Amino acid sequence: MDNHVVGVLGGGQLGRMLVEAASRLNIQVAILDSDNAPAKQINAAASDKHVTGSFAKASDVKQLASRCDVLTYEIEHVDTKILEELEEEKPFLDGSKWSRIQPSWKTVRTIQDKFVQKQHLAKFGIPTAKSIAVGTSHPQGLKETADQLGYPLMLKSRTEAYDGRGNYPVRSVSDIEPALKALENRPLYAEKWANFQMELAVMVVKTAQEDSIDAWESRTLAYPTVETIHEDSICKLVYVPARGVSKKVARAAQDLARRAVASFPGTGVFGVELFLLQDDNLVVNEIAPRPHNSGHYTIEACHMSQYEAQIRAILPDLAPTIRPGATDLAVPAAVMLNILGGPQPDSHLLVAKAALSIPGAKIHLYGKGAGRPGRKMGHITILGSSVSECETKIHPLIQMVDAVRA
Ligand code: ATP
Ligand code: MG
Ligand code: MG
Repeated sequence: MDNHVVGVLGGGQLGRMLVEAASRLNIQVAILDSDNAPAKQINAAASDKHVTGSFAKASDVKQLASRCDVLTYEIEHVDTKILEELEEEKPFLDGSKWSRIQPSWKTVRTIQDKFVQKQHLAKFGIPTAKSIAVGTSHPQGLKETADQLGYPLMLKSRTEAYDGRGNYPVRSVSDIEPALKALENRPLYAEKWANFQMELAVMVVKTAQEDSIDAWESRTLAYPTVETIHEDSICKLVYVPARGVSKKVARAAQDLARRAVASFPGTGVFGVELFLLQDDNLVVNEIAPRPHNSGHYTIEACHMSQYEAQIRAILPDLAPTIRPGATDLAVPAAVMLNILGGPQPDSHLLVAKAALSIPGAKIHLYGKGAGRPGRKMGHITILGSSVSECETKIHPLIQMVDAVRA
């Protein structure tokens, strides 16, 4: 299909599902992560190009780059300095005008600092929750910021955040000291609390390298607008399509997500998280420059999965083959449930095994070994003729997940 070797910074579950999609197209993938990382367990025999090391270490990234043609990511917490240097050395693929790093390291650098990401979006008129950088770890500075934003507010780490590890809700002045203690030594910003009706997400595929928000319609495609349920800042469930959301709002979410993604250079898939406010207005929470938890359902529920979309969008001959319609649902509805680690190293297997008895439940286990509370160990997708049919089928598993957690 394509002889270019794709290098991926990071080899967790997203990388694993990316390798699965690539192997169907017989495209070779080289993963940079520790030995036996989830992504390295798939089709291992077909790849002699994996690199043992860290996506945060310059020399390891360099080694990966020497073994592949196009570089991409499954995590945004990578060393962008080395990517900038690699681009200076050899910017394009085979003398073409196709960048070897997709999406651009500039996109990743902007996105990996959530406060800079918000400033970028604001510059393009994309609405976000009001945010103020917290320049000092002295409680007085945050008190003054809280006076401006009001309580509650969300104190957030600007960098290295995932699964809510980096968030601290500040409900009153008495939370300020514990919040600063919990996020000690991390660069911080404060975000106005979003009193949302619902959290939505839209996966977007960008097939053109250029960034132009005005050309968003020709350069991006959107997957359906889905509803995400978070517990303790970790995604728990995804409902497809979002329940009780009008066509107009669902369309507005897709268009906003597409415009936001069009403002970033490079190609690939992007996960756009949104808050639907009480007045039906939408704001962007954050953007991931890679496949995303809210898009796992696309593997079984859409014509082209987010992982296939990522592989195709970053390769010059395959990107133009991604046409409108590819991101549509192939079934009426789906629900995705995350399986998190519990108190025992194998608690998560209880849920996965129970899913075996539900006809049609699609079980994904990530091969991470022993579970830990809150760690994403796998997920289950159920397809159906309506969301409520999927809900009925998945209900016993949700009860089990809740019991494991309790
Ligand atoms: P991810 O795993 O999605 O990358 P993250 O650690 O980057 O997570 P956020 O997406 O910023 O964290 O926040 C996680 C969750 O916390 C959100 O999905 C939402 O439920 C809640 N949250 C975040 N910001 C706010 C806010 N300003 N107001 C209310 N709730 C918020
Ligand atoms: Mg995040
Ligand atoms: Mg998030």
